[in-house]
Amino acid sequence: MSELSTMILDRIRDVPDYPTPGVLFKDITPLLADPVALVAVVDALAGQHQVDKIVGIEARGFILAAPVAYRSGAGFVPVRKKGKLPAATLEESYDLEYGSATLEVHRDAFAPGDRVLIVDDVLATGGTAKATVELVERAGAEIAGIAVLMELAFLKGRERLQGVDLRSLVIV
Ligand code: 5GP
Repeated sequence: MSELSTMILDRIRDVPDYPTPGVLFKDITPLLADPVALVAVVDALAGQHQVDKIVGIEARGFILAAPVAYRSGAGFVPVRKKGKLPAATLEESYDLEYGSATLEVHRDAFAPGDRVLIVDDVLATGGTAKATVELVERAGAEIAGIAVLMELAFLKGRERLQGVDLRSLVIV
């Protein structure tokens, strides 16, 4: 296992029964609090992509995407839960285990043909990332890739993102 993977795994805490009974939540706050690990993770997420914009997914995605944008010399664009963005938006709904959720992006967030890297903390079922891909494409931009800190392989999110360059710093 690489030094980076070990550094990440040592700093992600498993919290049982959060937010609902039966869920084992991956808590990234110990990693965020470690200055050496935070720099290593931001550098690794930025990777080699030449991009115009970094999209961060509310809420933990924002924490990682903003420094990745700074590191990449790119702009930052938020994808937020419905009702949080002030100007005209595009929206995309997706199914959750119980019910559905809606994400939004500002209609004018991208210049035509902008190349975009989507950043989030955890890929689980892939529903959030897939909806974000749809939103970014509908807003006129091109997906360069998705970069996540951690992928939960047993939930098979990767299968919903075929054709997209998905990079996960650790896969568990
Ligand atoms: P998905 O749509 O892939 O099922 O869920 C991914 C989204 O939910 C991400 O935006 C991520 O922040 C959040 N998420 C789901 N499970 C976890 C988890 O165990 N830990 C953290 N930190 N976030 C999670």
